[in-house]
Amino acid sequence: MKPLALYGGSPRAEPDLLSPAGEGNVAPEGTDTVPEFGRETYREVQPPSRRGLPADLPDRLVTLDRVGETLAAAHRAHHDVVLLLIGIDDYSTGSGRLRRSDADALGLQLEDRLLGAAVGAGSVARVSAHSYAVMVAGVAATSAARRCANRVLNVLSRPFYLGNAAVHVSAAIGASTFPRDATRPDELLRRAEQALSAARRAGPNAFRSVQTRTRNGTDAQTLLRAGLRSAIARNELELHYQAKFDLADGRITGAEALLRWRHPELGLVEPARFIPLAEADGCIVPIGEWVLRAACEQVRRWRDRGLEMQVGVNVSARQFREPDLAQRILDILHAHRVDPAWIELELTESAVMDDADGVVAALERLKASGVRLAIDDFGTGYASLSYLTRLPVHVVKIDQSFVRGLANRSDNGAIVLAIVRLARNLGMDVIAEGVETGRDLAALRAWGCDRAQGYFFGKPVRAEEFATRFGI
Ligand code: C2E
Ligand code: MG
Ligand code: MG
Repeated sequence: MKPLALYGGSPRAEPDLLSPAGEGNVAPEGTDTVPEFGRETYREVQPPSRRGLPADLPDRLVTLDRVGETLAAAHRAHHDVVLLLIGIDDYSTGSGRLRRSDADALGLQLEDRLLGAAVGAGSVARVSAHSYAVMVAGVAATSAARRCANRVLNVLSRPFYLGNAAVHVSAAIGASTFPRDATRPDELLRRAEQALSAARRAGPNAFRSVQTRTRNGTDAQTLLRAGLRSAIARNELELHYQAKFDLADGRITGAEALLRWRHPELGLVEPARFIPLAEADGCIVPIGEWVLRAACEQVRRWRDRGLEMQVGVNVSARQFREPDLAQRILDILHAHRVDPAWIELELTESAVMDDADGVVAALERLKASGVRLAIDDFGTGYASLSYLTRLPVHVVKIDQSFVRGLANRSDNGAIVLAIVRLARNLGMDVIAEGVETGRDLAALRAWGCDRAQGYFFGKPVRAEEFATRFGI
């Protein structure tokens, strides 16, 4: 096997991890400029209630002003902005309406949880007595906003306590996207309000985006749903690859395979828009198998050229409900003459928590056969940390909401540091995803993170472009 390329092209004697891959990255800096996030900072991190006073949340007018500023910045940076509008429905105690003082106390707790759920994703503002806005900006705003919306619905679905009395709150979320749905702040808010009404009609704890309509008037969701089952047969699915780097020596260790749908009418569709539909419909099972086969073909091609690449494949919670998942995976690897150690399956905490015993058994089987297993988006689910010790996994992938901007945020820094130490103690590898700047990368390297992945090195691209970019 020949050695793989270091980041930045052909192999070099010295690793050059800190060269930015494109515009917009912070200038590279050496590890001696890594911000100090030692024990001191770790102890100082405060719970959300003391970080941002809920009473200080801006009101509707200030909110519109802030939306305006965010849109202007996003326009300059060619980014999308997703406006999540969170509507809080009735508080119910089981014994009628709340007293004013109790409603106020509940409001504070609720805002506390909202702030916690939005950390790393966007800023929270109050729009009216019972609605809040979270603005999520950036190149991958759609998927980040969806993850944030899931977190919000999750934290609000847990009971609140007023003294000993449990109070249940239901919420719904509507989302509009700049510039696709509107370009003016008031218009964007209005579109989010329409989406929120649709979410409320769909039932408690629902999330709805503004429905986009194509030229012939069919809405995009309907088109996606209708075409999903035939997408494989019509050859419309493709995998893009994003490099993963070893932070100790700067070499590429492999790539994550990320699914895209080249839709005949809608163009290239991101997975956040169709994977949830495929999961609900059940066709994520054949789609997941297609992904694994395509990833196996690619890793086989790389290995045939002497490249020691490992490929990460995402597996959804729904796939784990198939009783023979482990066997099907092993059969596909075998059919492609792929060594199980070349594949790293990425699964989220929720995939494991859905049916812990069944999933753990499947994971044990895969691990015993040599397949590498990673917990994706770590830190965003609600698995207890001790739970991690029960899971037969090799790798923890720190969610990008903690990684992005971590060099400038002591709270995220403390979380990342804690995850790295935890994983170390459990003998697991740690990989950080969503690394966008040289400063964040330098901090991760100084804290002993093993691998990293993110726009700093490059966005996901098709295999041919991947080969050209990294000189492999
Ligand atoms: P994930 O597995 O956590 O993948 C990482 C996502 O973050 C990818 O989004 C990637 O493009 C994006 N990303 C990577 N680096 C950066 C960065 O530096 N900054 C920002 N802002 N984003 C970055 P993508 O490709 O849209 O995928 C979203 C999610 O869709 C994935 O999250 C994964 O959960 C799911 N997904 C993708 N492919 C598959 C698949 O084949 N099967 C299943 N079940 N799910 C998939
Ligand atoms: Mg992943
Ligand atoms: Mg992830």
